[in-house]
Amino acid sequence: MDRMRTLFDSVAADGVTDADRIKARIASSGIDIADLRLHTTMERLAEWGDRPIDFEKFSEIVGPELRMINRSFQRQLVIPDWEEFCSDIETIYSNVAPNRSGRNADYIPILRDADPERWGVAVCTVDGQRMRLGDVDIFHSIQSVSKPLNYAHALVREGADFIHRFVGTEPSGRPFNALDMLPDMRPFNPCVNAGAIMIAGIIASGSPDRDARQITQDVMDLWSRLCGGIDEVRYSEETMLSERATAHTNFAIAYLLQGRTGLPRDVDLHKMLDLYLACCSIEMTTEMLAVAAATLANGGICPITGEEVLPTEVVKKTLAVMQSAGMYDNAGSFTLEVGLPAKSGVAGAVLVVVPNLMGFATFSPRLDEYGNSVRGVAFCRELVDRFTFHIYDNLSGGHTGCKRDPRASQHEQKERDLSELRWAVSYGDRYATKVRDLMLNCMIDVCLADGDIKEDEITTISATYAEIMGQPTSRQELDHWIDSRRGQHNGGESPNTGQDQTSFAQLLEILASERSSLDDNGREVILESAFRVACSDGSIEDEEGVKLRAIARSLGISEGVLELEIARFQRRLAQR
Ligand code: GLN
Repeated sequence: MDRMRTLFDSVAADGVTDADRIKARIASSGIDIADLRLHTTMERLAEWGDRPIDFEKFSEIVGPELRMINRSFQRQLVIPDWEEFCSDIETIYSNVAPNRSGRNADYIPILRDADPERWGVAVCTVDGQRMRLGDVDIFHSIQSVSKPLNYAHALVREGADFIHRFVGTEPSGRPFNALDMLPDMRPFNPCVNAGAIMIAGIIASGSPDRDARQITQDVMDLWSRLCGGIDEVRYSEETMLSERATAHTNFAIAYLLQGRTGLPRDVDLHKMLDLYLACCSIEMTTEMLAVAAATLANGGICPITGEEVLPTEVVKKTLAVMQSAGMYDNAGSFTLEVGLPAKSGVAGAVLVVVPNLMGFATFSPRLDEYGNSVRGVAFCRELVDRFTFHIYDNLSGGHTGCKRDPRASQHEQKERDLSELRWAVSYGDRYATKVRDLMLNCMIDVCLADGDIKEDEITTISATYAEIMGQPTSRQELDHWIDSRRGQHNGGESPNTGQDQTSFAQLLEILASERSSLDDNGREVILESAFRVACSDGSIEDEEGVKLRAIARSLGISEGVLELEIARFQRRLAQR
């Protein structure tokens, strides 16, 4: 009963709560109130209406879905601090919005005439926490985003051995519609047109009695289950007709496949192409694609329905192919910079998977020279610049450049690291002492930005120190540090002669040279302390901003991470 009481108390005042408060609590954890996993709860709340809910009633209402309610209320979802994470994503979304480079695909009217200003980002975690920004409800053709899913569908039906007799697994390094083949005449991989057309041939060859449109329906059903049925998967006949009327290169590829490689089970070439083009003409929204991506991130189990849509083995192969070939001839540098399996389509969608954490999708029709959405790629870069989502971010031995990691486990790890640091510093541990010293120096130098250090600044430094280190520092000790920094700033000469810069530059040099010996936690503590001191008067002056950025740079912390930190600070100020 006790735990139920805790849950109740967290949404109650004076012994009662109501439907609105319960829903708001659920929504703030990232769970959509229409989520199937809370279906009964919502039904019961609707029945009860807006009457007050006491403890008894509350237990009765949430009982059948208690585990889900508990996880949501207690912030036990994969990203516990959901609202903070959403704000960070919004910052990145707005950063990318002004980017108007690139051009719509123009080979068919429906893409050429699409509003190039559209910009949407949707996220869904493996726990089904969802966020939406901008144009996430627009239905658009999924185009090449269909390719990895067709591959997965074929894997389920025919198995990898059969498929890879006809299609390779090598990145092509060539444009998506190139006619090039591997030396053994197989198309490079399932994500370029030649490979995707062959995959369509494999799928079509397995259903000799059904026409291309009927088989497309199977694929649409699969998409629908992948996206948890949050909306209806559509099909655009208009897109299909224009695609077919302009598919000269795809026809050339199909004939080449037939002539050189041979088609699986001698499938009809037109049926093969029709299936390929029809799958490109499936229409979905960005939000639907994000949930589908989350299902892939979750090993094939849809986070919001719990249904096993694809076997994990199939998902693994699909993600591997996306990783090496999903972004066409830009796949190599995309992997280098972003390091995530992704797939783009010429309508402007990009579907991205952060394994075991979340899926997301972006939509913006302007494309770069490779046929990838400009804003979509820019968003991915900025995201990975700030969060530890690159597949290799986890091997850095504590050196990610202090990128954020919103996962619950990381919160705990951070707390442990900090408490260890505090404990060690109290016994004079060499490393912990170094962090402490650098921290003090940075705090003092930020205050010295305007020439001298005032009494209230000393109070701030000592309070910040106590907060971070968990123990106070003596005034005497602090004065000693301040004097020595001041001495270096003045260089024994009169103040404001430019010596300031020199001594700050020296501090930066020290930070840079110590950087490799500091782990992420140490670096973060140092920047954090300087940051808090700079913010203490309620704003970050230009000069302070410059110093903070310089400290971050010397510590190898990306500007993007600092930017998120500043945005958070400003949000907190605005809330006051
Ligand atoms: N329908 C397009 C084609 O086959 C799909 C290409 C894409 O999205 N990159 O050319």
